[in-house]
Amino acid sequence: MASSGAQSDPSPETILVTGGAGYIGAHVTAALAASGRSVVVLDDLSTGTADRVPDGVTLIEGDVGDAAVVGAALHDHGVTAVIHIAAKKQVGESVARPLWYYRQNVTAMATLLEGCVDAGVGRFLFSSSAATYGMGSGGVIEEDDPPRPINPYGESKLIGEWLLADVARATGLRYAALRYFNVAGAVSPELGDPGVFNLVPMVFDALTRGERPRIFGADWPTPDGTCVRDYVHVADLADAHIRALDALQATGGEVTPEADAAETVDGLVLNVGTGQGSSVQEVIDAVGRVLGHPVDVEVVERRPGDPAALVASVDRITDVLGWSTSRNLDDMVSSAWEGWLALHPEAASLAE
Ligand code: UDP
Repeated sequence: MASSGAQSDPSPETILVTGGAGYIGAHVTAALAASGRSVVVLDDLSTGTADRVPDGVTLIEGDVGDAAVVGAALHDHGVTAVIHIAAKKQVGESVARPLWYYRQNVTAMATLLEGCVDAGVGRFLFSSSAATYGMGSGGVIEEDDPPRPINPYGESKLIGEWLLADVARATGLRYAALRYFNVAGAVSPELGDPGVFNLVPMVFDALTRGERPRIFGADWPTPDGTCVRDYVHVADLADAHIRALDALQATGGEVTPEADAAETVDGLVLNVGTGQGSSVQEVIDAVGRVLGHPVDVEVVERRPGDPAALVASVDRITDVLGWSTSRNLDDMVSSAWEGWLALHPEAASLAE
């Protein structure tokens, strides 16, 4: 169990957030800034936008894989902790362009870690993914279940965890790898997800185009036949980052659960989900509640590579960080809808 130390932080800390201008990164950056911390964002603006970075936070436009950019960012700002969110995250694209994914997600991370070691950065949070589990076991997944990624995206995230564990062992870097499950929602419309790569925005997109949302298979071995996932609100996810950072600081490396302590004294791997599964149909029902009318769907073929069910065990993150979620599926879908409307005002007529 993480405990808060009696000693106070002797020097002000500065946190570098890579990818801080993107959907998840901007939420984490906003939460850090709101907690009074000094934050610097490093983002190449390939998918993020400068207007997502809050006032008072320095934005460095540059590549995480560029050693000179990383070195300058860390040294010039006296960075004490890094939250590494910048990455490519589309599964299909990773299958089509594996080497590019390895360069973006693995090689660049090695460069960032080299810079961190050189600059004496003490703590590192890494955005990992439930994609490291691959097909899972068909139900609730624990962090110690065997990781068996089934695409280059998931593989690149698992390798990222290995890089961290090895660097931590060699240098004493303290780290947490946060395995995100299905992230949705927004704290404000301006911070909504601009991408159309996940279920909730894909449903909104289909409806906006006057089409029926598609369900990829309704014959799965699940209660209603559609796939089950663990959807977590991005604001709860951002809060998990703050708690993880505090836990690494407060405990001086003693953040691992007892069972793992012998293996990984400097690091922590945590699922970030709710522990509750929702089916695709249940998500679409939530969209119907937000719009004020039922949503007509089209059931199509199963999508290759989809597991039937992937739900996080949240025992470890609850124990170690004292974290739990406070927002439900309707909060996610309604806030995602406000974000969608901010980018697609023409969709307003879809809601009654
Ligand atoms: N899904 C769907 N229709 C869509 C988009 C997604 O039925 O238009 C399903 C997909 O098969 C999966 C779930 O929604 O079961 C979540 O998919 P997403 O791509 O958002 O996340 P994943 O769990 O694949 O990372």
